[in-house]
Amino acid sequence: MTPDPADTPSLPISETFVSVQGEGKLTGVASWFCRVAGCNLRCGWCDTPYASWDPVGEKRPVADLVAEARDAGVGHAVLTGGEPMIFAPLAQLSRGLADAGIHVTIETAGTAWLDGLVCDLMSTSPKLANSTPTDDPRDPTGAWAKRHEQRRLQPETLSRLLASFPDRQLKFVVTSPADLPEIDALLATITGWSADDVILMPEGVTVPDPESIAWVVEACQSRGWRYGHRLHIQLFGNTRGT
Ligand code: SF4
Repeated sequence: MTPDPADTPSLPISETFVSVQGEGKLTGVASWFCRVAGCNLRCGWCDTPYASWDPVGEKRPVADLVAEARDAGVGHAVLTGGEPMIFAPLAQLSRGLADAGIHVTIETAGTAWLDGLVCDLMSTSPKLANSTPTDDPRDPTGAWAKRHEQRRLQPETLSRLLASFPDRQLKFVVTSPADLPEIDALLATITGWSADDVILMPEGVTVPDPESIAWVVEACQSRGWRYGHRLHIQLFGNTRGT
């Protein structure tokens, strides 16, 4: 019997593409990227507004996505967004990829838990106060700013995500030294991480000049954290599909 399309697990997808991972511990690794359309946050500086503020995409069956990842032949898949963890069929996609022998990275803000997930690298990016869309013209009533502020840090969920998978990282987008006390305070409240998992990435969609990021380098050196380069920005600029 042909399955009813309504029963077929599917995900809203903004884009899929093959590129090199631009951020984090697996920087430079050729990967198949799968970006869901939809997010439970609204960062003011979001660099993928087509997957958050104005989500655009089409529903695609999980089986098709697994087949595409297998055909890509690169052995690594990055499930990103938007916020992939708010979509239950992500668990089926992760299991399908793992069954195909593909290494799975999940990129998430770390505010939601999902049962049944398979993940080799849990890549969290907790959102600091610098992300709240204060006085953003896309949020004229301020409703999203309020929601974002309530949701952006979920220490219990974050700790569970960090402790539940073989490898993990915490990527923080930073805009000024004023962000450091907030990071220190958050890290003091969560478990399941080591200094080697913490990565600071200067905010922006261009390659930063060395002077402007000297304080980031110094913070990493003094705390045993990693400096997070954005290789894809250097290689391709801020363009979709990279
Ligand atoms: S969590 Fe990520 S996708 Fe969602 S608004 Fe923030 S930067 Fe954009």
